[in-house]
Amino acid sequence: MTAKIIDGKQIAADMRAELKAEVTKLKEQNIVPGLGVILVGEDPASQSYVTAKERACEDIGIYSDDNRLPADATQQQLIDLVNQMNADPKINGILVQLPLPKHLNESEVLLAISPDKDVDGFHPMNIGKMVAGEKAFLPCTPHGIIKLLQRSGVTIEGAEVVIVGRSNIVGKPIANMLIQKSPTGNATVTVCHTRTKDLASHTLRADIVIAAAGRPNTITADMVKDGVVIIDVGVNRVEDATKKRGYRLTGDVDFEKVMEKASLITPVPGGVGPMTITMLLYNTVESAKAAAGI
Ligand code: NAP
Repeated sequence: MTAKIIDGKQIAADMRAELKAEVTKLKEQNIVPGLGVILVGEDPASQSYVTAKERACEDIGIYSDDNRLPADATQQQLIDLVNQMNADPKINGILVQLPLPKHLNESEVLLAISPDKDVDGFHPMNIGKMVAGEKAFLPCTPHGIIKLLQRSGVTIEGAEVVIVGRSNIVGKPIANMLIQKSPTGNATVTVCHTRTKDLASHTLRADIVIAAAGRPNTITADMVKDGVVIIDVGVNRVEDATKKRGYRLTGDVDFEKVMEKASLITPVPGGVGPMTITMLLYNTVESAKAAAGI
């Protein structure tokens, strides 16, 4: 069997086109979804993530309010800015680009964001609601994974899913979403990590493997069964002298070999990545609708 590629770029483009149409309709009712963006410091990677998010907003008609604070900004300055956005009716979602400089208290800042504008889904209120199966802003990367599976026709209900990784931003939330008693849940989920004994004994039973370890070749062909669906969340830099920049990006899965056994597989780049920003846009539009009582 040779796997079909799950084209995250195309699925993200389809979703963004649908969101754009929705935003156009909302604007006819004078509703303009707005995202407040806060970047502290000048980390180049964070700067490029923020630029990509703002450009994506612009592309689909979401208003974005760009706020930059110097690297030596105080905790109070940052909290004041968050509070200002909490009170601003033009802002439906607040995004504080992480990581923050070391002297700032990240969890206090995330806690200051109004749960109604927490479009990253990192506020404990939203995490709690997600775990309880209530309506909440779902964190973008795991929510994007659910959309990829759904739009690729994968049956989640009843599936044996093995997740490799238990971080707060990927492993734990995707596990929670998949065990919910809902059409996008009802899976049987195993969460593995570095203390898991015999990782392969788990991945070999999986109908769906979600790899979020941040380590190349964590999943090799001998670790999966024929017909498995592979979602590769990992983004790793691997030295590559043939590339101008000296490295290439790779996931956590031995793509070429696993592809020969899998039925569906996400590439890196071009799989999960494009969905993350898309789900941020999605949450911002949902927030604007909720604020307008729609
Ligand atoms: P993280 O916080 O470093 O967590 C990695 C998890 O993987 C940990 O739970 C760790 O176990 C587990 N792990 C590491 N090596 C393992 C191994 N050999 N066997 C079993 N478990 C192992 O990483 P993260 O933030 O979740 O991100 C994971 C990857 O996804 C990274 O490459 C990141 O760049 C990528 N990512 C991509 C997107 C996107 O939009 N495409 C978004 C988020 C993250 P312990 O808990 O025991 O240490």
